[in-house]
Amino acid sequence: MVIVDYKTGKARSQEDADESLQLSIYAMAAHEKWGYRVSELAFHNLEGNVSVISKRTDFQLEQARERVLTVARNIADGNFKPKPDFYCNFCAFRGLCPAREKQARRLRRRLRALRENRSTDRRSTKHFAPKNFRAKT
Ligand code: SF4
Repeated sequence: MVIVDYKTGKARSQEDADESLQLSIYAMAAHEKWGYRVSELAFHNLEGNVSVISKRTDFQLEQARERVLTVARNIADGNFKPKPDFYCNFCAFRGLCPAREKQARRLRRRLRALRENRSTDRRSTKHFAPKNFRAKT
C-alpha cells in the first residue's frame, strides 16, 4: 500500500518526506485502523506535479510512536509551550489551548470593561437621551 499526501503549498523535498512525522503517523494509523502494511509514503507536490517517495522501517515507526506518546503525555500534563500563530484559526485544540485561554481571559476583561463603560455612559446620558435611544456597543 502507498499513502500519498498531496501538497498544494511549497514543494517538499526528499529530506522532508524522509523526516516527516506526519507521514509516519499516516503509516501507523493505516496499520492500526485498517491493518494495512504501508510500503511507501509520498508527498506529491502539485507544483511541478512531482512526487517524493519515502519508506519507514518498523524501528522508525516505533521511534515515531514514542515521539507522539511523549508529546501527548506532556500535553496531558500541561507541559508544552503553545506558539499562537495563523494556524490557530484551524486548530482543533483551541478550546484546550492555554494560549487561547489567556486570549479568552483578556477578551473577557475587555468585554467587562466595555460593559462597565456602557452602563456608565447610559447613566450619564440618561437625562439627555431621547425615549427610544440605545447606546451603541
Ligand atoms: S490554538 Fe494553541 S495548540 Fe492550537 S495551534 Fe494555536 S497555539 Fe497551537
